[in-house]
Amino acid sequence: MAIFKAPIDDIKYLSNEFLDKSALQQIEEFSSVTPDLTDAIYEEAAKISETLLFPLNRSGDEQGCTLNNGVVTTPDGFKDAYVQVTEAGWGNLTCAQDFGGQGLPHYIANAVEEMIISSNMSFSIYIGLTIGAYNAIERFGSEQLKKAYLPHMVSGRWSGTMCLTEPQCGTDLGLIRSKAIPQEDGSYRISGSKIFISAGEQDLSENIIHLVLARTPDAPAGIKGISLFLVPKINSHEDGSLAEPNGVICSAIEHKMGIKASATCAMEFENSNGYLIGELNKGMKAMFIMMNSARIHVGIQGLAVAHAAYCGAVDYAKERLQGRALTGAKQPDTPADPLIVHPDVRRMLLTMKAYTEGARALSMWLSFQLDVSYQANDPTVKQNASELVSLLTPVFKAFLTDIGEIVTSTGIQVYGGHGYIRENGMEQYLRDARICQIYEGTNGVQALDLVGRKLTEHMGRNLRHFFHPVSEFLQQHQHDAALAGFILPLAKSFSRLQNATLFIAQKGLSNPDEAGAAASDYLRLFGLVAMAYMWAKIAHNIHYKKGQMPDEFYDGKLITGLFYMQRLLPQTGALLSAIMSGSQTTMSLKENQF
Ligand SMILES: Cc1cc2nc3c(=O)[nH]c(=O)nc-3n(C[C@H](O)[C@H](O)[C@H](O)COP(=O)(O)OP(=O)(O)OC[C@H]3O[C@@H](n4cnc5c(N)ncnc54)[C@H](O)[C@@H]3O)c2cc1C
Repeated sequence: MAIFKAPIDDIKYLSNEFLDKSALQQIEEFSSVTPDLTDAIYEEAAKISETLLFPLNRSGDEQGCTLNNGVVTTPDGFKDAYVQVTEAGWGNLTCAQDFGGQGLPHYIANAVEEMIISSNMSFSIYIGLTIGAYNAIERFGSEQLKKAYLPHMVSGRWSGTMCLTEPQCGTDLGLIRSKAIPQEDGSYRISGSKIFISAGEQDLSENIIHLVLARTPDAPAGIKGISLFLVPKINSHEDGSLAEPNGVICSAIEHKMGIKASATCAMEFENSNGYLIGELNKGMKAMFIMMNSARIHVGIQGLAVAHAAYCGAVDYAKERLQGRALTGAKQPDTPADPLIVHPDVRRMLLTMKAYTEGARALSMWLSFQLDVSYQANDPTVKQNASELVSLLTPVFKAFLTDIGEIVTSTGIQVYGGHGYIRENGMEQYLRDARICQIYEGTNGVQALDLVGRKLTEHMGRNLRHFFHPVSEFLQQHQHDAALAGFILPLAKSFSRLQNATLFIAQKGLSNPDEAGAAASDYLRLFGLVAMAYMWAKIAHNIHYKKGQMPDEFYDGKLITGLFYMQRLLPQTGALLSAIMSGSQTTMSLKENQF
C-alpha cells in the first residue's frame, strides 16, 4: 500500500522564504496573512489530506461511481468527506468575503489545493470545478445572479460544472450545437446534449449549477456565436430554497482509465431555464476566465499526483532489499541492500524529486503573480502580472501535466513489477494523472495557444515580462562563483529558448505549419527553462537569505537543484535541434503513407 505525506516543509519554505511578496505588502486584505497564519492553514490542510482524503483514494478508485435512474452515487465516504471539507471552508479560500469566502491569496489556496489533490485527485475535482464556475459568475454574472447563486456555491451547498464538450465538438468549440431560446422575461430555454461533464451529476451537493455553452437561433456561425448560460439542476426560490427540477438529466457515466471516483457524465438539457452570463455571443470571453483558472488548477493536478507517486517510491526504495551497492555492501547485516543504494534507482528518485519540487516552486511563484494581477495597487504592475500569467498559463498546464505522467510512470519503475500490479497503489497514480494532459484543452492545443497567440499578443510584450527578468537575473549573477552551477546552465538553456523563439517567429510568419510542428517541443523547452529559473532563484535564496529550515533541508534543495541543472535541463539542446529541423519531415508524408 502506497504511503502519502503532504509536502509541508517544502510548502512552508516556498511560502515563507522563497516568495518575494513585496508587490503586495501594502494590500490591506493581506496584511493579516502572516507566516504563523499560513503555517497553521498548511498544517491543517496536510492533516485533512493525510487522514481524511488519502484513506478514500484507493477505495474510491476500486468502487467508482454508479448511475441508477439518473442518480449518480459517489464511493463510500465521499459524501461525509465533502461535508467536512466544505464546512471547514477548504473549497472557498480565495472566494470573496462578501459571498462568504475567505478572500485569501491564490498562492496559499493553490498550495492547499495541491495537498488535497495529491491525497485524492477524484475527490478534489468536485471542489475545484465549483471554484472555476464561481470565478466566471463573479467576474461576468449580473448582480442578481451573483446574489442568488454565489453564497450557496461558496458554502459548498451547491456545486458547479463546466459544460462545453458535445459529441461532435471537443477542441473545436465553434461546432457547439446546444440551443438557447430567448424568453420574454429575459431568461433562455436551453436544450442540447453535453458529454464528458465532470461532476455533472453526483450525490454530494444539494444542487448543481451548470455553466453551459450554447448558441441562440440567430447567432453568427462558429466561435463568434457562442454564449454562456447558468443552468441550475434544480430551480430555486429567492431565499435559496429548492423548487422544481429544471430538466437537467444525467443519461450516462463514462467508464474510464483513471479518476474513477470522479463522475464523468453525459448530460441532457431539456428546455431547461438558463440565464445569460456576460454578453450575448461573447461566451468564450467568460469561459476563458473559467478555463484559465481551470488550466492552472489542472497544472497543479499534474504536480500533485507526481508528489503522491514520489512519496510511495521513496518509501519503497528505502524498504525493498535487492542486490548490493556497486561500491560494496551498505547493509551487511541484511541479505541485500535497499534499492536506494543503486545509482539508477537514485536517478529515478532524483528525477521525480527535481521535477516535483521545481513544479511546486513554479506553482507558488505563478500563483503569486496571479495575486499581483488581481490585487496590486499600481495599474502597470497589475497589468504586467496579468500578461505574464496569460503567457505562462499554457506552459504551466502542459509542462506540469507532462511531468505528472513522467513522474508517475517513473514511480511504477521504482517499484518494478510491484508497481505494475494494483496492490501497491502506484499504477492508480499514472492512470489518474493521464487525463490531465487531455482535458482543459489538450497539451497539444496549449502549445498552439502559446506559439499562435501568447507569443505574439501585445506585439510580444507578454514574452518580455518573462524574458527581461530572466536576463536581468543572469546579468546580476553572471560572476557569482557560488551560483555558477545554476547560472551557467540557465544562461545556456535560456539562449536556446531565445533562438527557438526567433526561429518560430520568423518561420511561422511565412508558413504556419512551421510554428504548428514546433509548438509542443517549444512549450517543453519553455517549461524546462522556466523551471531552471525557479531552481536558480531557489539557489540564490538559500545562499544569501538562509531562513528557518534545518541545514539538511537547504543542502537537499541545492543538490536536487544541481541534479536538475546537470541531468534534466540539457534536454533543451535536443529540443532546440528538433525545432530547428523545421516542419519538412512532419508535413511531407502523404496520408496514404501513414
Ligand atoms: C475524464 C474527462 C473529464 C472531462 N471533463 C470535462 C468537463 O468537465 N467539461 C467539458 O466540457 N469537457 C470535459 N472533458 C472533455 C475534454 O475537455 C475533451 O476531451 C478535450 O478538450 C479534447 O476534446 P476531444 O476529446 O473531443 O478530442 P479532439 O478535439 O477530437 O482532439 C483529438 C486529438 O487531436 C488534437 N487536435 C484537435 N484539434 C487540433 C488542432 N486544431 N490542432 C492540432 N491538434 C488538434 C488534440 O490535441 C488531440 O490530441 C472531459 C474529458 C474527460 C475524458
